[in-house]
Amino acid sequence: MCFRDRTVLVSRCPFPSHSHALFKVVFTRADMSGMVLARVGLCTPVAPSGSDAVVPLTAEQRLALFSDLARVVTWEFDPRGAGIRWHTPLARLIGDDPTPGSYWLSSGPAGRHGQSVRPVEPDELGDALLAPVIEGARAGMGWDSYELLQEMVAPSGQPTRLLVRAMSVSGGPEGHLFGIVGEPEPVDGTPWISADTAERLQLLVEHSPSGIVVHQDGKLVYANASAIKMTGYRTLQEGVGQPITAFLHPDHVGPTVARLSQLFHSGDVVKGHEALILHSDGTEVPVEVTSARTTWGGKPAFQVILHDITERKAAEEANRALLAVERRYAAAVAALEEGVLVLDRDGSVQAANESAVRILGHRLQRGRGDAVLTGGGIVWGVDGGAIAAEDLPVARALRRQVTRSHAVLGVVSDGGVRQWLSVNTRRLDDDQSVDGAVVVCSVSDITERKQLMDRLAWEARNDVLTGLLNRTGLLARISETVADADLVGGAVLLVIDVDRFKMVNDSLGHAAGDEVLRAVAHRLADAVPPTAAVGRLHGDGFAVLLTGVVDTEGAVAWAETLRAALARPLRLVSGRILNLGVSAGVVRADPSERDAGRLLQDADLAMLEAKGRHRGRVALFDAGLRDEIGGRLELEHDLRAAVANGELRVEYQPVASLADGRVVGLEALVRWEHPSRGLLMPARFIGLAEESELIVTLGSWVLVQSFSQMARWRARHRGAEDAFLAVNVSPRQLEGSDLVPAVDEALRRSGLSPSAVVLEITESGFVADDPHIARVLDDLRGAGLRLAVDDFGAGYSSLSQLKRLPVSFLKIDRAFVEGIGTNHQDDHIVSVVTELGHGLGVRVIAEGVETETQRDAARRLGCDLYQGYLLARPCPSATVPAFWPGAGGPGKR
Ligand code: C2E
Ligand code: CA
Ligand code: CA
Repeated sequence: MCFRDRTVLVSRCPFPSHSHALFKVVFTRADMSGMVLARVGLCTPVAPSGSDAVVPLTAEQRLALFSDLARVVTWEFDPRGAGIRWHTPLARLIGDDPTPGSYWLSSGPAGRHGQSVRPVEPDELGDALLAPVIEGARAGMGWDSYELLQEMVAPSGQPTRLLVRAMSVSGGPEGHLFGIVGEPEPVDGTPWISADTAERLQLLVEHSPSGIVVHQDGKLVYANASAIKMTGYRTLQEGVGQPITAFLHPDHVGPTVARLSQLFHSGDVVKGHEALILHSDGTEVPVEVTSARTTWGGKPAFQVILHDITERKAAEEANRALLAVERRYAAAVAALEEGVLVLDRDGSVQAANESAVRILGHRLQRGRGDAVLTGGGIVWGVDGGAIAAEDLPVARALRRQVTRSHAVLGVVSDGGVRQWLSVNTRRLDDDQSVDGAVVVCSVSDITERKQLMDRLAWEARNDVLTGLLNRTGLLARISETVADADLVGGAVLLVIDVDRFKMVNDSLGHAAGDEVLRAVAHRLADAVPPTAAVGRLHGDGFAVLLTGVVDTEGAVAWAETLRAALARPLRLVSGRILNLGVSAGVVRADPSERDAGRLLQDADLAMLEAKGRHRGRVALFDAGLRDEIGGRLELEHDLRAAVANGELRVEYQPVASLADGRVVGLEALVRWEHPSRGLLMPARFIGLAEESELIVTLGSWVLVQSFSQMARWRARHRGAEDAFLAVNVSPRQLEGSDLVPAVDEALRRSGLSPSAVVLEITESGFVADDPHIARVLDDLRGAGLRLAVDDFGAGYSSLSQLKRLPVSFLKIDRAFVEGIGTNHQDDHIVSVVTELGHGLGVRVIAEGVETETQRDAARRLGCDLYQGYLLARPCPSATVPAFWPGAGGPGKR
């Protein structure tokens, strides 16, 4: 306690007994814990002016004077039995209250939890007032001064506050106190707080949503309900006495102590600090702390207001997270490949990311609304049509016509080229709109994708190699055409197949093959009117759809026109010249048949028919063909099993010399003994076999079979030793790579001399300039076999071509032989051919000789050999020996 002089006053004594005395009074200020609590004074009697007399006073008198001056009553407590002794009666302070009844006392900040308001009888009042202080001293708190503010309501209802102060008397027994009771003066104008106000304040404290705690000497002495809740204690009692560090996060202990140390004087406050309170369940409660210095039980203490900021923290955290998300979002938008635009109510650009700038260029600065996207020029839709301004996406969004829309817009870019934009537009709801943003557009430049898509769409319907329609595209065109009643009557579909294309491809290479296909496509497209549709169906299969063709003749005429266009010699880039043959099937669209697929199938059947009969022809579809083709498919199926089942056999037709009638050779002709259809002639199944790879199996079987047979005859029959065996070889066999090994194998197995074998190949089988075929023929001749041109004259090869053919025989087709002896023209042709053949060292055979007239004419016209029904029909092997001279048969002549 520190006393400093403040005021010196000389005054007359107010007491009647000392009315003539003068006192010098020195008022000082009691400064305790920074708060002015009371004024005390020292009074010294001085002699009145003009007199030096000093009034002598006893210690008792002085104490009484001092008490009066300080408006306090003094008391003393002796723990050794004397108890409380009032030096001045308490009534001096509170007056003698005439009103009967009890005093109401309450004291200390502990309020309800401590000494609650209680009634006290007037004669107990002194004891009751001092009780807490004496109790504290007795409890051995060890303090040397006590201060207690007591509130008291007199029986009259008058509220008073009384300040009890005490000091332990040094030198006295332990617990010996000397004290005063006085009225506290309001500090710095703080208004007097009445009991009910205090109670209200107390209620406020107790029920404050903020935690309020008081700690003293580092220990909790009071906590309101909110504070208890924060710490997880169930009652105040659990918490009181606990060190405050038990409630504080270790990281916050240091800063808290530092802050408290700034509070020097009672009433000093530090606010706005944050700390973490440890809840007993282990969680941490973030709080904002306001600490104030105060007193508790007369001793310095700290009152702390704890404001739970969990929610605020969470909100801040959420906000931070939101900001982070927004930042990330903004970064993402900036980095998007897609352009993103934000437009306001007027359609002006509010924001645009980098990609938008890249995609839209200067358009961004130009107009408003859709013009930002389109540049304000013409805008095309995917279908190629122009899009009206009011139908553009931003206009629609601004009109609130749609909330979301997607559009593909073809615009003219800054560079003046067509650019395709994919635009997604979103109209924001009013509550989503920020800063007047109304429409958000995302824009992608899909020019490349669009081109690719267009390309893919084109490729879905067109043939990449030739640029013609493909099967899908053609079917679509056929469907459209047959759906149109006006067109269906005059619609004709032609299916055209390039003969021996596989051979061109295999022997000249794929590049040449492609070149041929492109040339065919070109020629077809050139030959037809623009209304026609031309397509490529597969490898070498083409189709043409024509309209306005009124009759079948017209249809066939078109087929011939196209055939002629394709037959023109074709010069490849390599310089090689090809003569293409094609087979065509024709079908007229029937108003009752509107299925495009069916129509194409029919034309296809007709084409197969054309190809099957004779290559290089045109066939017209008729309904019977379907059955026939169906039957053919069945037959093809049976044929696969025929070889294995032993249903094939070979018949032999003799070839005789025109000079002496001697049989010089035999032609092997295959027959099929069909289990249900009976004997089938080659015309029924060779074509079928040629269409598949079956011809290879069949041909090899015939070779082995006939070679073995011939070897036996030559070995056993006189006259047969020099006879040759003629075997038919299909062009398809020549085109493949199996013929030479198959011939070798048959020779090996039969032991037949190669010189005894003549392979008959139709004219069309010789493709003079085909290197593969040339090699095969060379190999065969090299092995000692001989070759014959079969059916000479039926095809298209010219006589001049004959020179290049490495053949030993030439068989004049039955069609020419038929007329000889009766038809001059045929006679002429045969004589020319014979002459030419002889000039080339080739022996000429007249085929299909049925009459003696024909035979004689053949002899006269220079043919060397003949073959035909006149001599003998093809016959089973068993009857062949009759032809040999020794046997005496028809061959004898
Ligand atoms: P091709 O090579 O021209 O055979 C002659 C065809 O004329 C034979 O018919 C034969 O029976 C017939 N023929 C012979 N003399 C006369 C006659 O005086 N008058 C008439 N009207 N016809 C006569 P076939 O046996 O029906 O054979 C037809 C065709 O089948 C053959 O014509 C040949 O191209 C082919 N062929 C027959 N066997 C085979 C074979 O094993 N392999 C191959 N690839 N084709 C074969
Ligand atoms: Ca033949
Ligand atoms: Ca023939």
